[in-house]
Amino acid sequence: MLGIRHYKNSAIDLWQGDITTFVCDAMVNAANTKLAGGGGVDGAIHEAGGPSIMEECNKIGGCPTGQAVSTRAGQLPCQWIIHSVGPVWQGGRSGEQKLLALAYRNSLCEAERLGVRHVAFSSLSTGVYRFPFEEASNIAMKEVKDFLDCEKDPVKKNEVKRITFVLFSLEIYSVFQKALFKAFPEKA
Ligand code: ADP
Repeated sequence: MLGIRHYKNSAIDLWQGDITTFVCDAMVNAANTKLAGGGGVDGAIHEAGGPSIMEECNKIGGCPTGQAVSTRAGQLPCQWIIHSVGPVWQGGRSGEQKLLALAYRNSLCEAERLGVRHVAFSSLSTGVYRFPFEEASNIAMKEVKDFLDCEKDPVKKNEVKRITFVLFSLEIYSVFQKALFKAFPEKA
């Protein structure tokens, strides 16, 4: 496979395409603070999943930047949508890196709380919010690694076993592939 690594009994892999067709347990949506839907991956998820997702989002009311909330997934091929809000890129001096890391970390914690085994991420903040791909991909991998490092409690049953990054374009796929191989080098 082109992009897969194993770490602490979990798999981290990459998939190029439309996340709304990806079969998993929970998909992570690049949402906005009002949970109001919109363009990009957020629009695609609401469009494909149907109106029940927005009804639940309206009940939740909103989500601060760096946080994550979850709803059921309507007609999408998963059980849960984790709506996570990444920062708008403002040049990199307004704490964007920390907020993006938090968004990844809180999404993973939410996945763990929901007891899901396979979580699929869209690339948070790298569309309309303009976060540079390379920096975003390195932050994403670091958070996954940190999460797996502290998640592996031998007595815990509900573990995230597979984390997939679903990348819309080949360009961003290859950036994430580089970050994956850097963060999780193959053992000799
Ligand atoms: P943000 O506002 O957080 O930047 P966007 O939805 O504009 O969110 O973009 C986030 C990433 O999602 C971008 O890299 C974009 O190419 C990608 N994307 C857009 N539509 C889809 C989709 N249907 N499936 C997977 N990724 C998508």
